[in-house]
Amino acid sequence: MVLFEQESRIGGNHTWSFHGADVPAGSRRWLLPLAENNWDSYAVRFPHCQRTLPGSYHSISSGRLANVADERLGDRVRTGVGVKAVQPDSVVLDDGSRLEARSVIDGRGPSPSPHLDIRFQKFVGWVVELENPHTLPGPIIMDADIRQDDGYRFFYTLPFTPRILLIEDTRFSDGPDISNDEYGAEIARYADSQGWRIARRLRVEEGVLPITLGGDIEAFWDDADAPVARSGLRAALFHPATGYSLPNAVRLADQLALQRDWSARAVFERTRKQSVALWQQTGFYRVLNRMLFLAAEPDQRWRILERFYGLDAGLIARFYAGGSTIIDKLRILTGKPPVALSRAVDSVFRYRPPAVT
Ligand SMILES: Cc1cc2nc3c(=O)[nH]c(=O)nc-3n(C[C@H](O)[C@H](O)[C@H](O)COP(=O)(O)OP(=O)(O)OC[C@H]3O[C@@H](n4cnc5c(N)ncnc54)[C@H](O)[C@@H]3O)c2cc1C
Repeated sequence: MVLFEQESRIGGNHTWSFHGADVPAGSRRWLLPLAENNWDSYAVRFPHCQRTLPGSYHSISSGRLANVADERLGDRVRTGVGVKAVQPDSVVLDDGSRLEARSVIDGRGPSPSPHLDIRFQKFVGWVVELENPHTLPGPIIMDADIRQDDGYRFFYTLPFTPRILLIEDTRFSDGPDISNDEYGAEIARYADSQGWRIARRLRVEEGVLPITLGGDIEAFWDDADAPVARSGLRAALFHPATGYSLPNAVRLADQLALQRDWSARAVFERTRKQSVALWQQTGFYRVLNRMLFLAAEPDQRWRILERFYGLDAGLIARFYAGGSTIIDKLRILTGKPPVALSRAVDSVFRYRPPAVT
């Protein structure tokens, strides 16, 4: 196995978080040693609902992933090597050399597709050192008790140490644009409003993640020039409501660890099957996304989330794990929606993905 990465280290500049319940129990055994921060509850804040929810929450930094990969994989990770073209059983590197393999997995991150109707979860995060300790007992994964802007907006805060926080300004928006300066100023203002005096900024990260409203997953795969296996966002292996991909990457890794037939065809079929199965299991979340993005006015989207976070803690955990039951779905959809009923009905029943020309 050889992994090619165009940058000087694998993993980019990320903090990956997940709920313990998002990953199968068997996978937690090998995944949790990677986590640098672990909490046993998390909080949400809305104008009329402040709540601490039980359940473990974890985060892994890209630096930690890169260190472990270096340690375990040694020179099988080849950094600073760009891949120019991929085929099911070969790659062409930027320097023109061609390498053959039994199978190739394309994990080059997201690429736009006309077959997925997406909106965006976008954010800028600062890791900061504070002058004085904060008093947070755990993460605040949504603080939406703030001025709304550019869609549904909230702050996300992870307390890494008594004086080090990751603070993110996050927006669920119709467009992907981010202004680092504007988000940065908002983060500084938010920290101030919480009484956190920033001594130093240690790191900045930003992300624009896909939130899916609809699409055609088979066409998404059929569109490729060749049947190359894929992983991660490139395989549409993410939660439709958050764009988070870590739990599905874990599932794919476990599946591939059991793979006996490493022919290019078999690995392609394995990754495509997993992607299509996930798509079929997650239609409900795309319906909710349509309610959020098409039925609610952008500055009123928080009401849908506030209502959701007032529901049963088990239901919320199953939602993020992508495992909502029929009862959960009925519970989420029943009651008066906090949006105009006619627009809610249109977004659910009359929605058609944009035509692909
Ligand atoms: C800042 C940030 C925070 C996130 N937080 C979370 C989170 O908390 N939880 C969660 O589940 N998800 C999170 N996500 C979403 C998602 O999990 C990540 O985007 C995840 O890293 C996607 O994995 P991937 O393997 O598809 O692509 P990537 O992690 O983007 O990896 C693709 C790699 O391919 C390399 N590459 C691209 N083209 C080439 C080429 N031609 N040749 C060689 N190498 C190439 C890139 O340099 C990159 O390192 C976050 C995303 C971002 C950006």
